Amino acid sequence: MNVADSEIIEMILMKQNFKKVEDINEANVILFNTCSIRDKAEQSLFKQIEQIKNKKNKIIGILGCMAQRLGKALLEHKNIDFVIGPDEYRTLPKVIEEVYNKKVRIVKTEFINNEFYDDFSQNYKNAISAFIPIIRGCNNFCTYCVVPYTRGREKSRDIDSIIKEIKSLKDKNYKEITLLGENVDSYSFFKGNQKYKFNDLLKIVAEIDENMRIRFTSSHPKDINKDILETIQKYKNICKHIHLPVQSGSNKILKLMNRSYSSEEYLEKIELIRTLIPSCGITTDIMCGFCDENEDDHQQTLDLMEKIKYDSSFTFAYSERSGTYSAKNFKDNVDKDTKIRRLNEIINLQHIHSEYQNKKCIGKTFEILVEGESKRNKNEYFGRTTCNKVVIFENLNNKISSGEFVNVKINNYTSATLFGNII
Ligand code: SAH
Ligand code: SF4
Repeated sequence: MNVADSEIIEMILMKQNFKKVEDINEANVILFNTCSIRDKAEQSLFKQIEQIKNKKNKIIGILGCMAQRLGKALLEHKNIDFVIGPDEYRTLPKVIEEVYNKKVRIVKTEFINNEFYDDFSQNYKNAISAFIPIIRGCNNFCTYCVVPYTRGREKSRDIDSIIKEIKSLKDKNYKEITLLGENVDSYSFFKGNQKYKFNDLLKIVAEIDENMRIRFTSSHPKDINKDILETIQKYKNICKHIHLPVQSGSNKILKLMNRSYSSEEYLEKIELIRTLIPSCGITTDIMCGFCDENEDDHQQTLDLMEKIKYDSSFTFAYSERSGTYSAKNFKDNVDKDTKIRRLNEIINLQHIHSEYQNKKCIGKTFEILVEGESKRNKNEYFGRTTCNKVVIFENLNNKISSGEFVNVKINNYTSATLFGNII
């Protein structure tokens, strides 16, 4: 979501003739698009601000969730000149001008209506893959999570604006789009009397261009259903990958988190995915060390992982965020060492499962969308399978270019990457 927002911010500024520089030392204006999800993300902002040299010639602005969450308090840091929340990015050019010329400090964090900025999004030429925000904000109020407070209530984007943007990306030769939202399955938009849900949107988007890959993230386990899975199965260009954050394998913890599903219900959804789309890549988010999590709860998370064997996962240790329900009502009572130990156990088990899943790809051939040169070797390129696995393959004499689809037969693997040859 932040990458997509940063692109929008860039477009807003480019339109006013701002120029992007690659070297931070050459910049007159430095913008940080921030994340508040964990304390670590917030602390890294302050470290980065300290590292900026020649601050006298520069102005520094804070955008994103920290701007929304902390607002004026951020001005206590002497090097921060302005703070703008996610709903006020249109004011950026004017704010920068005022701060720069009049040497004033400005804070703008009013939340008006959850802006989509659809007149600004995606203007890059010759790119391959684009993010399309379809829903902003969140109504779920998981007890640990700051997002409903920093991003406001759910708002679905006008379906016509989504279709228009995707058609224009098709004309610019984009090959893949990712529909984005905190909970894409909650998409719901009325056009006259007609209601469009996520499944309706998915079908319409898939039919725009059968050669354009469609991805989406994130899905909430309580919302993803048979209709959506059947649509994914039916359309070849909808990628066979579902990111389904589980958080914990313990029903006690899931309840404390207000996730509104049990581990049994979650497992049923996984079974349904694997029955309807046997080749589907399944990834997740797992959080350990939540309030009152004991060894048995932690073991239940490991047991659930063992049953599912995710292709990959994002793993987190619980970080208390002030203002959330859990910060107000529960004790952050798992000590730091235990959180780290449990996190490492989860990461190690995930490593084994990723290797297990990648090993199964040996000898198989996958269609890959070529994304570019591999970092380690100029003769090698990389791309992704429909299941979102990264594949590296030889591209001697630059026969293949980015944006093409190629068939690659897999002959080697690590837990993170597949290797193969074009056939
Ligand atoms: N909307 C998505 C998740 C968005 S936040 C969903 O509900 O699935 C991405 C991930 O950050 C979450 O899945 C969770 O694992 C992690 N996260 C959120 N709040 C956190 C906190 N307070 N401490 C640690 N991890 C957190
Ligand atoms: Fe946060 Fe839960 Fe909303 Fe995801 S669903 S953004 S974890 S409140």
